[in-house]
Amino acid sequence: MTAVAGLVSLSPLHAQKVPAYLDESKPVEQRVDDALQRMTLDEKIAVIHAQSKFSSPGVKRLGFPDLWTDDGPHGVRPDVLWDEWEQAGQTNDSCVAFPALTCLAATWNPDLARLYGESLGEEALYRNKSVMLGPGVNIYRTPLGGRNFEYLGEDPWLASRMVVPYVQGLQSKGVAACVKHYALNNDEEYRHQVNVVISDRALHEIYLPAFKAAVQEGGAWAIMGAYNLYQNQHNCHNATMLNKILKHDWGFDGVVISDWGGCHNTDEAVRNGLDLEFGTWTDGLTMGRTNAYDGYYLAATYKQAIREGRYTTKELDEKVRRVLRLFYRTTMNRHKPFGFLCSESHYDAALKIAQEGIVLLKNDVVKKDKAPLLPLDLQKMKRILVVGENAIKMMTVGGGSSSLKAQHEILPLDGISNSQIVKRSNCQIDFARGYVGDTIQSYNGVTVGRSLYEPRSQAELTAEAVEKARQADVVIFIGGLNKSDYQDCEGHDRKTYDLPYAQNEVVEAILKVNPRLVFVNISGNGATLPWLAKVPAVVQAWFIGSEAGKAIASVLVGDVNPSGKLPFTWYASLDQCGAHALNTYPGTWRADHRIIDEEYKEGIYVGYRWIDKENIKAKKSKKSTSPLFAFGYGLSYTTFKLGKITCSVNGSAAAVTTPTMTANDKMTFTVPITNTGNRAGAETVQLYISDLQASVERPVKELKAFRKVFLQPGETQQVSLTIDRSALSFYDEKTGGWTAEPGNFEALIGTSSDKMAGKCTFELK
Ligand code: BGC
Repeated sequence: MTAVAGLVSLSPLHAQKVPAYLDESKPVEQRVDDALQRMTLDEKIAVIHAQSKFSSPGVKRLGFPDLWTDDGPHGVRPDVLWDEWEQAGQTNDSCVAFPALTCLAATWNPDLARLYGESLGEEALYRNKSVMLGPGVNIYRTPLGGRNFEYLGEDPWLASRMVVPYVQGLQSKGVAACVKHYALNNDEEYRHQVNVVISDRALHEIYLPAFKAAVQEGGAWAIMGAYNLYQNQHNCHNATMLNKILKHDWGFDGVVISDWGGCHNTDEAVRNGLDLEFGTWTDGLTMGRTNAYDGYYLAATYKQAIREGRYTTKELDEKVRRVLRLFYRTTMNRHKPFGFLCSESHYDAALKIAQEGIVLLKNDVVKKDKAPLLPLDLQKMKRILVVGENAIKMMTVGGGSSSLKAQHEILPLDGISNSQIVKRSNCQIDFARGYVGDTIQSYNGVTVGRSLYEPRSQAELTAEAVEKARQADVVIFIGGLNKSDYQDCEGHDRKTYDLPYAQNEVVEAILKVNPRLVFVNISGNGATLPWLAKVPAVVQAWFIGSEAGKAIASVLVGDVNPSGKLPFTWYASLDQCGAHALNTYPGTWRADHRIIDEEYKEGIYVGYRWIDKENIKAKKSKKSTSPLFAFGYGLSYTTFKLGKITCSVNGSAAAVTTPTMTANDKMTFTVPITNTGNRAGAETVQLYISDLQASVERPVKELKAFRKVFLQPGETQQVSLTIDRSALSFYDEKTGGWTAEPGNFEALIGTSSDKMAGKCTFELK
């Protein structure tokens, strides 16, 4: 009683003593101002550059803790040594590996993006990380791109809808998202030397919307500058990208963090909007310097220049202000929830995202069976043969900075063998290696779970696979790419669009003895599939993290009805992709061989926008330009039917002929969708807009809304998709803004970019 009374009477006095920067009742901006004016020049310089590979200092004297960042988008990377890329060798830093972001995009389910962000945030909190280096939202411009697997596909609208809830979910836990790589880091080859040459229109319509949405709708607290150049200036200190677009036009109030080693110049870093420098290639402690971090561009050199009066503290204070704001949002936020690591709920989230992201690309009726090959009818089977290195290869290990130390990763072979449905049947599971790809045993200090050592020759491996396939009822071939160099891996792009190693020849050899083959492709990219016509079933299974094998098995045996949709166009050949058709990749080296200019000549015609345009030309020349699988495509074990589209303006039913909207109206398109099969399943209704009369060239159509619906057999739901003027707008290079021109438009509604169920013409007055 006395103690409580004492506290109460002390409290006003105590409150008076709390400085504003520590006073939680004060607005953040006031606390920032107060902290700023208390900081010395040394303290200010310290907080704007790293002190170790992944941390930057707080302000010890004032009680601001150090700021710990970590990769990345798919799980919390294991700890490295203070100043090295080497593993620290901790035993408490393994994590849940979530599916790579291409898989998340393939779910077309923003609720899962939110769940992803929240789950990752909880893992990060437990590991005391305040900034997660992700998500990545660079657009899939070429299928050779080494980091496409880390991104959200080819379409700016899809990527925007998925990045916003991811960022919000993560930050709801008090952990900052650091959205990367801003911007135009669309391929990996020569990533430090590429100067992207691009029209303003393509920049704003295709490559920036996901970043803008992350900032303006998601409220991202940090952005990572990209390695490459734009307008001959590195993006980590690029005046147009950072000062003009990001900070001025979009009103970003967070921190611009350099990609690791992406800062090259003190003056540009000071003036052009970089706030926090990381990873500059100093020699580090290995070379015996007492503090290599003093050598950073925003460290001693900058401080000296301020002392000599070459800069005022204007830019410095602006950077520190942003960093302090980040501190208040993360390390100084005492209202964060508790974190937890490797919990059941995180595994459930990883599994659900994986299952919803897997895309069924093909599922033909097998003549003899008079039924589609999938889901596998285990009642009729005795022997299942699994073939392929990817059935036994850990995919959470490798690929660059997104590599993880997963607490566990269920390999596809194990997932299939341990599936309850398989176990309950009388099926035997057999395995044949089929081909040897990359037998690497460890990456970044993380050892793969299962040895990939294989002494046999390719002829022996093929012979074994064929012999076993002859005896089997079905063959599940688990192939694709992996995370090795020059595949789906940071630092380089793929050298060819074909599947690597001897996969194609083994598939062909098996098909000669057993046509019941399911090809499960593990990758973050498309590839040529030369045997496609002969294979009844193809499944795109991405890099799906800890629960990979379980998720794949659940789809193959029908425990889960697949509902993923491709977030990119799966070209039949490279020349179907604009960047390659126009020979604009990887660019042209300048005479001094220091910079390679990559001109995005295809402009806004990326992915399906290019395919649609070429299709129109092809119709005239009767040439086929169909990709193997279109953007937005994916099958199900059930079937759906879309009904008649109706339309309303601001909630009131619109005229039957050409409905009209004005610039301030919202137009809603409603379509009934029915599950016409006999299994519960999900379909994604997609709305594309086509501008029929425009003063500039416009894509044939562009995705502007979508919704995934879950339906029981026979169930019908009304799906409503609403757009406003922004869905009709283009980036006007003359005015430097967005314009929606009056005239007629078409709303096309379908279930993939090449399959429309109906359309509705309307007018913008
Ligand atoms: C990558 C970033 C990553 C950083 C830190 C860089 O090489 O481009 O995506 O976050 O390293 O590992």
